[in-house]
Amino acid sequence: MTEPTLDPLPKATRSAIIRRGLRGTCPNCGQCQLFASMLRIHRHCPDCGMTLERGNGYYLGPLCINYGFVALGFVAPLLLMGVGGWMPLKAALALALIGALLLPILLYRTCWSLWLMLYYLCLPDELHANRPEDSDDLLFEEDARR
Ligand SMILES: [Zn+2]
Repeated sequence: MTEPTLDPLPKATRSAIIRRGLRGTCPNCGQCQLFASMLRIHRHCPDCGMTLERGNGYYLGPLCINYGFVALGFVAPLLLMGVGGWMPLKAALALALIGALLLPILLYRTCWSLWLMLYYLCLPDELHANRPEDSDDLLFEEDARR
């Protein structure tokens, strides 16, 4: 791991936050991928040092997005199609079960990226890049709590 840079980053506009969220990169610098492996997010960005996995329930955001995609976007429509007679009920149940088991894993990374994107779209001033240059507070709040 390289040492995080202390050079001032350019301001992260909302469009940059969206681009970084869709690409799955750090919302602060846009340089590194969010994940160190298939299912393990970097605790801190290797390039800028921003805390990506903040702990203490922060994982609930991606979990809710993931659940919404799977339950409302896949399982419920399949069950409605099965009950409504547009497809055999047993096939709909089987597909819904398979999707309910596999989709959360397949969407895990995407949901983390979407969560970080939505979070910093709502609170862009929490990004280190958007803090004033004369700010004495160079640490993120979660780092200061440790
Ligand atoms: Zn970064």
